[in-house]
Amino acid sequence: MADPAELRQAMVERQLQGRGIGSAPVLAAMSEIPREAFVPDRLREFAYEDGPLPIGEEQTISQPYIVALMIEAADLKPGDRVLEVGAGSGYAAAVMSRIADEVFAIERHPALAESAQRRLLELGYDNVVVIAGDGSGGLPDRAPFDAILVAAGGERVPEPLKHQLAIGGRLVVPVGGEDLQSLLCVTRTGENEWSEDNLGGVRFVPLIGAHGRWDNGERSASNHTPAREFTLAECIAEAAEPDEDAHFAEWFDRFADRRVVLLGEASHGTHEFYAARAAITRRFVEQHGFTIVAVEADWPDAAAIDRYVRHRPPRPEAPGAFQRFPTWMWRNTVIDRLAHELRAINAERPPEQMAGFYGLDIYNMSGSIEAVLAYLDEHDPKSAQVARQRYGCLTPWQAEPEIYGRAALSRGYAECEQAVVEQCRDLLERGLGTDEGLFGAAMNARLIASAERYYRVMYYGGAESWNLRDQHMADTLDHLLEQGGPEAKALVWAHNSHIGDARATEMGRVRGEHNIGQLVRERWGDECALIGFGTHTGTVTAADDWDSPRRTKRVLPSRSDSYERACHDSGVERFLLDLTSGKHEALRRRLSESRLERFIGVIYRPETERWSHYSEAVLPEQFDAWVWFDQTQALTALGPPEPDHGLPETYPFGE
Ligand code: SAM
Repeated sequence: MADPAELRQAMVERQLQGRGIGSAPVLAAMSEIPREAFVPDRLREFAYEDGPLPIGEEQTISQPYIVALMIEAADLKPGDRVLEVGAGSGYAAAVMSRIADEVFAIERHPALAESAQRRLLELGYDNVVVIAGDGSGGLPDRAPFDAILVAAGGERVPEPLKHQLAIGGRLVVPVGGEDLQSLLCVTRTGENEWSEDNLGGVRFVPLIGAHGRWDNGERSASNHTPAREFTLAECIAEAAEPDEDAHFAEWFDRFADRRVVLLGEASHGTHEFYAARAAITRRFVEQHGFTIVAVEADWPDAAAIDRYVRHRPPRPEAPGAFQRFPTWMWRNTVIDRLAHELRAINAERPPEQMAGFYGLDIYNMSGSIEAVLAYLDEHDPKSAQVARQRYGCLTPWQAEPEIYGRAALSRGYAECEQAVVEQCRDLLERGLGTDEGLFGAAMNARLIASAERYYRVMYYGGAESWNLRDQHMADTLDHLLEQGGPEAKALVWAHNSHIGDARATEMGRVRGEHNIGQLVRERWGDECALIGFGTHTGTVTAADDWDSPRRTKRVLPSRSDSYERACHDSGVERFLLDLTSGKHEALRRRLSESRLERFIGVIYRPETERWSHYSEAVLPEQFDAWVWFDQTQALTALGPPEPDHGLPETYPFGE
């Protein structure tokens, strides 16, 4: 057998600290106690494995993590008197004896009770008394106890145990069905008052006795399942709120009081992610006072939809919206329908209460230049002349701004930067009042200035261009909220990689990148909600390369080491996991062990999936909620005509 001390240390670090056990006395005690002395000789080499082990009489020594979790919850202190029901091997009693003053441990199997007592004395733990018998009624002669731990599960909390707690004392007990139980921590808060916390799902052997199950010995113990923690998939299944379909969007009402609700997606081409966000958006606009829908699209393109939903006339001279790759992100059946629905909702409202549709992204530099010039031509022709000159140096590159970066390096385009920044400043100074047209022009001028920089720094690659883009998107959102006034509330649609707090992912931790989710959280704290979306398999609309045609591609089943696989293994097809702190703490802890998460953008390359699409993340830190669709379908794009859809081209998407 490898050195037990080393195995013990690894157990403490990986299984306990790794899952969030932080109690110093518990960690110290479990670093000290030789677990190998509590298991049968033939199983010694497995003593530090992450699971329960048989100890005879068809009983088990519990998984180390479960022992730590229970003792941490019991909050033992020096001076305490403790009762354990279900002593088994005596291991948990030994751990408690290192922290509390006196431990009484009851075991219903006399042979186990006897060997546990002998073992404890041999190891020198002489403040533990093991008693053979039924412990479901407690040990009234020795009560009150500062803490009581029950290592076997009954249908309900045994009443006598609650009354044998000292005031302020804690009873940690699994309660529920024979297969699955909830681990409860019951605190006695007064003579006849108790409060209760649910620590999450567990699976224990049955508590057999007068205040447990089958005290008349009707059932043999032979089919007992061992005390062990739920698998991650079981924990997810327990906490998942399955979709009852009819009321999908109502699930999200819990976030309706936030100022900013960010809705992610695990790919840019999955129908279910779009349809879900559309349903939430409709409900939040209709019922909860959200008037800003801000999406990962370019400002001038989104403006075409905005004009439509807010009953403004189209700009006939404007270039067609969403002409650049990847067109399907916004030219698709879901957005088409949403635009009609928002328009219908707005039809009932005065202009100042209408919901608008805005773009946060920076790619369409030429569209923004056109929009700024068109605005100035109409309202301030003199300034239009100046703007034309200023934007002139970008003209050769408007069609292919990606190569602007290279040109800027070799030909000294510093004056271009200065010119677009000046133009932006001019319009911002004038444009952040209430005049909608001027506000739009100012947002376009900001886009041009950000895009100029973006394409310049993009040439170097790295974090700077990503950060610049996400900073621009977060700033645009800020401007929209300011423009909307102190009551304004916004929904944001963007990819999970923009929405999930970057500090909880490799992009933030390793590459120094930030994103909208992080910036919004830093600014709005509890007044925002970050909601991520995921899937196991299905089809997706995506391209093989940038600028290459869209295709319907198969999404590979998720990897076994990913969050997605744990969600799939839960067996629940569609669900919501509420990850806000204070809810499902045991699950949050389990999910906090970093895992792979899949990110599919507009390009999907299954051949190199691990490296092109998976990245390490800590899901409960990334999001406040996670929405799951096990099987998903490719998004249906609107024109240019494709043989498979046959849908009419309708405004706002018409050429
Ligand atoms: N904490 C133990 C350890 O560290 O080895 C593990 C205990 S094992 C999961 C549960 C034990 O509870 C079994 O040994 C079982 O015989 C015992 N048990 C079940 N019902 C009981 C009861 N009513 N009173 C006392 N012990 C009971």
